[in-house]
Amino acid sequence: MVLSLDELDFGPPDYKEFLPPVSKKNYGKWKYHEHIKGGVIKHVAESGDEAYTVRAAIPKYVAAETVNKLCDIAEKYCEGYIKFTSRHNVSFIVPKAKDVDSVIKDVEAMGFPVGGTDHSLKAIIQCVGWTHCHTPATDSPSITKALYEEFYDEFKDNNAFPERIKMAVSGCINMCGATHASDIAIIGMHRKVPTVIDEIVEKFCSVPNLIKSCPKYAIKPKRGNLKTVVIDEEKCMYCGICYSLCEGMPIHNPEYDGVSIWVGGKVSNTRKGPLLARLIIPFMPNEPPHWENVVKVVRKIVDIYKANAEEDERVGEWIERIGWEKFFQITDIPFSDKCIDDWIFSVETYRKGTNFKMV
Ligand code: SF4
Ligand code: SF4
Repeated sequence: MVLSLDELDFGPPDYKEFLPPVSKKNYGKWKYHEHIKGGVIKHVAESGDEAYTVRAAIPKYVAAETVNKLCDIAEKYCEGYIKFTSRHNVSFIVPKAKDVDSVIKDVEAMGFPVGGTDHSLKAIIQCVGWTHCHTPATDSPSITKALYEEFYDEFKDNNAFPERIKMAVSGCINMCGATHASDIAIIGMHRKVPTVIDEIVEKFCSVPNLIKSCPKYAIKPKRGNLKTVVIDEEKCMYCGICYSLCEGMPIHNPEYDGVSIWVGGKVSNTRKGPLLARLIIPFMPNEPPHWENVVKVVRKIVDIYKANAEEDERVGEWIERIGWEKFFQITDIPFSDKCIDDWIFSVETYRKGTNFKMV
C-alpha cells in the first residue's frame, strides 16, 4: 500500500486525545490549585469538579514490568490515565479525593517516593551517563542516588525551602538533562583532549565526518597521513562528540576526569526570567559510590540558601540579590578565574568597574 503525503505527514497526534476525562471536561476552566501535602496537588474547576495530582519520583530506566505495575495503579484509581514527565516523575491524576492515599500507598510500596511539589526539592534530573552514552566523565546515576539519599526529607516536604530547588546531573558538558537551567547542577568534566589512535581512525572512521563533528573546528587532517587527524588542543573544549563518532578518539581519563558544580539556573519566567547556571567549582575528583564531598558542598549551599533567601526567591535570584562576591564569601568556596563568566557572551557580563558589591 502506498500512502499519500497527507497520510504520511500527519505530525504528532493531538495531545487532547490523551488527557484524562476530568482534565478534558474542564480544559481551560480550572479555577485554582493548592498544594495539600508533599507530592499532592488539589485542582478545583469552575464546574466544581476536583482532581488530585499525585507525583512520585522514578528512575530514568525502569523495567517494562514496573511500567505495567504503575499502569495497574492508573487503571484502578485514575480512569486508566498516567503521565511520565521529563523530570523523571510519574504523575497520577486522581479524580476522587478518597483514592489519593491509596495511590500514594501503592506507589510508595513499589519504592517510589511521593513528593517534589511546591517549595521542595523537585525530582532530580540525570542524564543516562555510562549506562547508555559514550562521553561521560562521571557517573551521573550514582551521584543522583547520593543526592536523593541526602535530600530525601526535603523532597517530601512542601515547605523545605524558600522556593523550589531543582537539581540536575549531567555526565559531561553536553548537559543532557537541563543542567544549565537548574538551581544546582553537577556536571562531569573531561580535562584532557581525546587521544587520537591513528590505527583505529584510519581503519574505522570517516575523516571528513570526524572533522565536521567538532563544534570548535579543533580537528584537522594530519599532515602526511590524510587518513587520520590531529587535534588543536587550544581549541578543544573536551565535549567528547568526536569520540561518539569514532572509537579511535577516546576522551576518558580516570586521572583527570571529575565533576564541576554550577548554581543559579532556572527556566521559569517568574520574577527575573530564565537564568543560566554559573560555574562555581570547576573540578572535584570522581568519588563513587557515595560522593561524600560533592554531597557535602551541595548540602552546604542548600543550607545557606535556606537560611538567607527571602520567601519565593530561587537560588539564582538570591545570589543576584546578595552579589556573587557575597555568595563565594558565605559559602567559603574559593573563587578562581574559571568561575561564573565562562560562557560565550561572558564579555558582556564582565565587571567593568573596580567596585565590589558587598551586602
Ligand atoms: S550529558 Fe554527556 S554523558 Fe550525559 S548523556 Fe549527554 S552526552 Fe552523554
Ligand atoms: S572533544 Fe569536542 S571540542 Fe575536542 S576535538 Fe573532540 S569534538 Fe572537538
